[in-house]
Amino acid sequence: MSRELHDIIGIGIGPYNLGMAALLENTPELEGVFFDKTPKFEWHPGMLIERMDLTIPYLADLVTFADPTSKFTYINYLHEHNRLHQFYFLSKFEAPRQEYNDYLQWVVGQLEKLHFGYEVVDVIDHQEADVPHYEVVVEEVATEKRSSYFAKHISMGTGSNPLVLDTMKGQPEEDVLHTSRYMFEKEKLVHSPHITIVGSGQSAIEVLLDLLKEQENKEFHLSLFTRSSGLFQLEKGEFGLEYFSPDFVDYFHSLNFQERNDTLDTLGTLRKGINPNTLRELYKVLYHKTIGEKRQPVTIQPNTEVRDLKKENGKYVLRCHQWQKENSFDYETNKVILATGYKPHIPDWFYDRFGDKIEWEDDKRYKVTRDHQLVFKEQRDHHFFTLTNLEHSHGTSATNLGLSVIRNIQIINSVAGREVYPNKRDTIFQQFRMED
Ligand SMILES: Cc1cc2nc3c(=O)[nH]c(=O)nc-3n(C[C@H](O)[C@H](O)[C@H](O)COP(=O)(O)OP(=O)(O)OC[C@H]3O[C@@H](n4cnc5c(N)ncnc54)[C@H](O)[C@@H]3O)c2cc1C
Repeated sequence: MSRELHDIIGIGIGPYNLGMAALLENTPELEGVFFDKTPKFEWHPGMLIERMDLTIPYLADLVTFADPTSKFTYINYLHEHNRLHQFYFLSKFEAPRQEYNDYLQWVVGQLEKLHFGYEVVDVIDHQEADVPHYEVVVEEVATEKRSSYFAKHISMGTGSNPLVLDTMKGQPEEDVLHTSRYMFEKEKLVHSPHITIVGSGQSAIEVLLDLLKEQENKEFHLSLFTRSSGLFQLEKGEFGLEYFSPDFVDYFHSLNFQERNDTLDTLGTLRKGINPNTLRELYKVLYHKTIGEKRQPVTIQPNTEVRDLKKENGKYVLRCHQWQKENSFDYETNKVILATGYKPHIPDWFYDRFGDKIEWEDDKRYKVTRDHQLVFKEQRDHHFFTLTNLEHSHGTSATNLGLSVIRNIQIINSVAGREVYPNKRDTIFQQFRMED
C-alpha cells in the first residue's frame, strides 16, 4: 500500500483516461496513477472487425488537439512503425479500428503509471482531513487482494455497458449475444443456418457486413429487424460536424436542463445513424451478391420491434411487432445478435458513497460543471471529474473521441491551476447566440 498523495487517480483506462495519462507525461508539476480491471488494454475487442474504420479522423488521437508535437500522436505511431508512407498513399482520413487499437496499445507500452488487472471497488471521501482527498480502494482481480491509494482528485472514465432488453437476458451467450461479444462468438455463429440481428446502428451494419463476407464460405441466412424507420446515415456534413467543437459544447452547457434535453432531441441525425461509407459499402455488397437473379442473402425489415424471445425445439422464436401496421408475428432463428447499444457505466459504490453528496439534474443524470467536475452540495477543492454519463450536460460529443482530448485539456488545466494546454475557442464558422 502506498501512502503517497497522488494529484489524480484515474478509474478505468479506456481512450479517455489513457489520453489524460499521455498528456500528464508532459506536465511535470502533475502526476497521476490509473487502474483498469481488465488484464490488458484492448479497445472494444468484441467489435475489432477487420477492415472497419474509426468514425472520426485520425487527428482525434489521444493528444493532437492538446499538443501536436507530443510523441504520442498517431502520426508518430505510424512513423515509428514505418507505415507513414503507406498511410499517406492510402489517403484516408479515418484510421482502421484494429490499427487504432494497436496505436493505443503502443501508447500504453510507453507509460508507467497504468495498472491493469486492478478493479476500483470503492472510493472514500476524506473531506474532513487536513488535506482533503480521496481514498481509492483497489482489488487485484487475480488475487482479490485489496489495497488503498490516495489522491487529491479523481477522474472516473468507466465507459459504458452493453444495453440488453430484460426479455433477451438469460440465454446462452453463444446463442443470444450483444454486439460487444461478436468477435468472441463469431466462429460458432457462422455454423448455424440462420442468424438474426436486432438494431440498425453502426455496430449492427458492421456485423452484417462482416457476416455477408462470411457467407462466401458458409451457408446461412441473415435477417435484420430494426424498430427505426430505416437504415439512415449519420449527418456528416461540415456544418453538422461543427457541433462536435468546444464552441458548441460551451453553448450547450450554458442551456438549462430542459433546453439541453430538447436540443438533443433536435440533433438526432448527429447522434444516431450509420456512417455513410459503411451504408454505401453494404448497398454495394448486396448489389454484387444479387447479380444474375441470385437470392438476396439477407432479410432487412425496418419499423419492426423485437419484443420478446423464447426457445422452442432448439430454435429461438422472436416475438416481433411491425409498429406502423400494428402487425405482430413470430420469427424463427438459430442465433440472435443484439445491436441495441450501450449505456453509461457507473460503478455501484459511486451511488453509495456520493449519491447524497452531489447534485442531480434528474434521478440518473448528475450535475456536471463545464470542466467536468461533479457538483457537490458543499463547495470543495478536491475534485471528482467524470468522463462518462455526460450527454445531458455536454451534448452530442459526449462519447466522441476527438472531444475527449478537449475534456482532458480542461481537467488538467483545472487541476494545475494554470493553462498547461491551450483551451482553444473560435474554432468554427457558426455561432449559436449573439454576443451581448
Ligand atoms: C464498438 C465501439 C466503437 C466505437 N467507435 C467510435 C469511433 O469510431 N469514434 C468515436 O468518436 N467514438 C467511438 N466509440 C465511442 C467511444 O469513443 C468509445 O466507447 C471509447 O472507448 C470510450 O472511452 P472510455 O475511456 O470512456 O471508455 P472505455 O473504452 O469503455 O473504457 C472504460 C474502461 O473502464 C474500465 N473500468 C470500468 N469500471 C472499472 C472499475 N471499477 N475499476 C477499474 N476499471 C474499470 C473498463 O474495464 C474499461 O477498460 C465507439 C464505441 C464502441 C462501443
